[in-house]
Amino acid sequence: MEYDNKRVDALLLKMQSDLEAHIKAANISNPMMVGIHSGGVLVAQRLHEAMAIEDTLGELNSGFYRDDFSSNGLSAQMKPSLMPLSVEDRHIILVDDVLYTGRTIRAAMNELFDYGRPASITLVVLIDRCHRELPIEAQVVGVKHELGPDQYLQVSGPDQLAMSII
Ligand code: 5GP
Ligand code: MG
Repeated sequence: MEYDNKRVDALLLKMQSDLEAHIKAANISNPMMVGIHSGGVLVAQRLHEAMAIEDTLGELNSGFYRDDFSSNGLSAQMKPSLMPLSVEDRHIILVDDVLYTGRTIRAAMNELFDYGRPASITLVVLIDRCHRELPIEAQVVGVKHELGPDQYLQVSGPDQLAMSII
């Protein structure tokens, strides 16, 4: 399955409109967006640019249980988290590229709480590959696509996002 950059752009547009509807329905004002390194930051940058979000994009990266293993089995370069502002009482839009077992999101939420107690957290993911091991769901999903344990969704970027299942 191939998602060229036009298809990913269409998914991002749909995610933006779903997220805006969610923000309105939940009466959220002045949300703060945080991307999970590294794929989640790419997706978050696109949404952050397209939406009128005042604050700088935050980036989270702790030694997560599972994150961004490339096809050759090497883990991505670790970068420190970059949280420019306090999350205390803020409505957080947490963005990742892929949601799988839910363990990365659990770890990300743990780390977020080290920066303060958010008023709410909304989860946005480009692709939900199913097979959760924790009770974590995204409020906004670009596409749901069940993948087997031997399959991997390669996300390429940063300027033009594309995806292919390998
Ligand atoms: P989880 O922690 O939910 O099991 O896995 C989600 C995290 O692992 C995401 O941050 C994502 O970057 C990475 N991940 C899991 N499966 C895939 C995949 O098929 N493709 C990519 N690009 N990342 C994945
Ligand atoms: Mg990731």
